[in-house]
Amino acid sequence: MDKMRLSCDVCHKGFVLADIKTEIMEDDITIEHGYIKCPHCGHIYTVYYADIEYRQNISKFTELQDELHRLKGICKSKKHKTADDVKLAYNAENRAREIMDEQKRISNKNKMITAKYKERYEEESVCQK
Ligand SMILES: [Zn+2]
Repeated sequence: MDKMRLSCDVCHKGFVLADIKTEIMEDDITIEHGYIKCPHCGHIYTVYYADIEYRQNISKFTELQDELHRLKGICKSKKHKTADDVKLAYNAENRAREIMDEQKRISNKNKMITAKYKERYEEESVCQK
């Protein structure tokens, strides 16, 4: 995997993104904080806050992803010669669209979960609201 180069918003020095670090919140052990830290000034950049709901959303997202791969197989593999094949492909396409919408909703939910905990745990970011 290529290492990503980042520039720190606070000290403006460049650094290479290593692994995302994780910590468990002291007041609630069901919450995991994923973050990267600037090696120069120590500023912490939150990547995510994951609680139980967040993790359930991730596994739901992954299930949907599997179904999506299967449906894309149906759309592609057939040459759609018979009426049944056309119908099958049509249904698969509609379902695939539903799944992608659902995945968007899940991603948004997780963004909101992260934002909620960011507000709770990172007081200095309150002004960014
Ligand atoms: Zn920095």
